[in-house]
Amino acid sequence: MPKGAPTHQPPTARHDQHARIKEDRRRGTPTQRGYTSQWARASKQFLREHPLCQCPACDEGRRRVRAASVVDHRIPHRGDGQLFWDTSNWQALHKRCHDRKTAREVNARRHTAHERN
Ligand SMILES: [Zn+2]
Repeated sequence: MPKGAPTHQPPTARHDQHARIKEDRRRGTPTQRGYTSQWARASKQFLREHPLCQCPACDEGRRRVRAASVVDHRIPHRGDGQLFWDTSNWQALHKRCHDRKTAREVNARRHTAHERN
């Protein structure tokens, strides 16, 4: 094993869950953040109308089109009810595309947050 090369060990499932619980405490539970049963119904309806992933990569055909399974807010609502319920701020995303976007957002938050539209 060469010295100085950092080895990245995948976090164990236990660590993962721990991080999630911590994150929930910090941001509030999903329900506290607005993800109510009303949201569940509305987002389900939205996915019926937008069955395919609308992320730029899928939308521009750079990737094989994926079926959408989550509704995402284009502009992070951060608890803003108006942004939260503004359907023009919604986009249907494939779960994996959504995770990528979330990871990017978390990264971007450390620099200046710049949304594309
Ligand atoms: Zn996508």
